[in-house]
Amino acid sequence: MHYPEPISKLIDSFMKLPGIGPKTAARLAFHVLSMKEDTVLDFAKALVNAKRNLMYCSVCGHITDQDPCYICEDQKRDRSLICVVQDPKDVIAMEKMREFNGLYHVLHGSISPMDGIGPEDINIPDLLKRLQDETVLEVILATNPNIEGEATAMYISRLLRPSGIKVTRIAHGLPVGGDLEYADEVTLSKAIEGRREI
Ligand SMILES: [Zn+2]
Repeated sequence: MHYPEPISKLIDSFMKLPGIGPKTAARLAFHVLSMKEDTVLDFAKALVNAKRNLMYCSVCGHITDQDPCYICEDQKRDRSLICVVQDPKDVIAMEKMREFNGLYHVLHGSISPMDGIGPEDINIPDLLKRLQDETVLEVILATNPNIEGEATAMYISRLLRPSGIKVTRIAHGLPVGGDLEYADEVTLSKAIEGRREI
């Protein structure tokens, strides 16, 4: 279908978002045309501000508007416990649960030889640096319950074995092949509670 250029550009932009195909993109683009100009401006500003003012925490890798992030800065949190997750969205899912009081480490991905992603390509070297000062007594591996997530957990557990730090893996019960971020709070809470040493 042929659209005027500004609309096809808007449709192309929406199609860059995950899960948005050409039909949905067209529907959203036409919806934008029906919105008030002020609302559209606010929307555009929110997009740019989010991108400009957010960064990754230099300690844990979580998304933040201050560095270090509010979790790393919080002196009331248990500094002997680090929960390793794949994605900032997993931290948000864990925080919603309100039961975990340790710190996090976000890997930004998982080891996946098929895609050419090795341990150096994700945030593992920084994790090792954080473990050097002997404050951390336990590392909980909360990577996703799929092949890449399991491989990543196994790799890190082997890497940490000589250090003597306790390494645990969250319990199954999370949907296999699913992402941590989609787990409901009860399932997630049980998975953390039932973690086992590996
Ligand atoms: Zn942080």
